[in-house]
Amino acid sequence: MNGPETQPLTRRQFLQIAAASLFSIAFKDIHPLYTPVLPINDAVKRIKNHFDTELPMVDYPIFVRIIDETHPLIPEFVDRSVKPYLTNIKTEGKFRTTPNAPVNSESLQAHRLVLGDLTALIDGCWSVHRGIYVKSGYRDFWMQNLAYEKSGNNHALIALPNATQHGNGLTFDFTSTEIHKVVNTNAKFEQTQVGLWLSKNAWKYGFVQSYIDDHHHDGKENEPWHFTYIGRTLASTYHDLRQKGWEGDVFDIQKCYPQIT
Ligand SMILES: [Zn+2]
Repeated sequence: MNGPETQPLTRRQFLQIAAASLFSIAFKDIHPLYTPVLPINDAVKRIKNHFDTELPMVDYPIFVRIIDETHPLIPEFVDRSVKPYLTNIKTEGKFRTTPNAPVNSESLQAHRLVLGDLTALIDGCWSVHRGIYVKSGYRDFWMQNLAYEKSGNNHALIALPNATQHGNGLTFDFTSTEIHKVVNTNAKFEQTQVGLWLSKNAWKYGFVQSYIDDHHHDGKENEPWHFTYIGRTLASTYHDLRQKGWEGDVFDIQKCYPQIT
């Protein structure tokens, strides 16, 4: 009656099985884009010396991929690191059963890597100010091109089709019912309850405002509605640095990391 099934495991077999199951627990949730990257250059040393801050390792290189006119999106990057992971915000997860989900349309898309924290941010704001609204998420080349042409080819208003952070699926324009859900400079989003809440709290959920006062990055003015996601760890470091008087923006912090193409 002592067949192989009923034999007690040898110590070696036991360790093999334990190691295999630990491996699968530790790695089962790892995303195909998971490739930790370390900060790399002189800017990192300056930040360390002047602000006594070590930049963290970042789990997903897409969080630190600069997207601007000097570092445009290339179709291969979008095809490999963005498009396969796009998901519909309104019909996924929490919002599937929320008829009045605070998002602009059925077709609004986001990268899967940000869905959890985007939902947490909306919930966080909603619990104190109910007006939060997501106006815009992922935009492909053609959607951006349409918006750019509508702006009269004005890159200070609408980024060039291959230079918009919206192309990474991790970037969103927020607005508020307080200003009838519009997104433009005249609406003074930064003075609304939602705008004030976002400027104070977005970093806690991994989001930072990209275009800030006086930086004129790619010719843009302050855009208090436009936030990009860099993960909670790096956003927290970014917030600390700004508190300590560092004057860089999100592009400056992304420059501290190796760039994927
Ligand atoms: Zn935007």
